Amino acid sequence: MDNAAKGATDGNGLPPPETIYVDQHRISCDGGGGPLGHPKVWYSLEDGRAVCGYCGRLFIYDPEKASRR
Ligand SMILES: [Zn+2]
Repeated sequence: MDNAAKGATDGNGLPPPETIYVDQHRISCDGGGGPLGHPKVWYSLEDGRAVCGYCGRLFIYDPEKASRR
């Protein structure tokens, strides 16, 4: 079956982007590290939100929802 290999990759792309609440206007994202990671990049949440151009994560400035680590 020539289509078997192709079919195995369909629907198996990147995981859905996450929404991350932060309590800072400057955040960094590295994709979480590991095989799904990417070079560390910094974003300014000037409009209260930013989307990572690498992994598509949405960062929203919301101190009340931001979880402390
Ligand atoms: Zn990212």
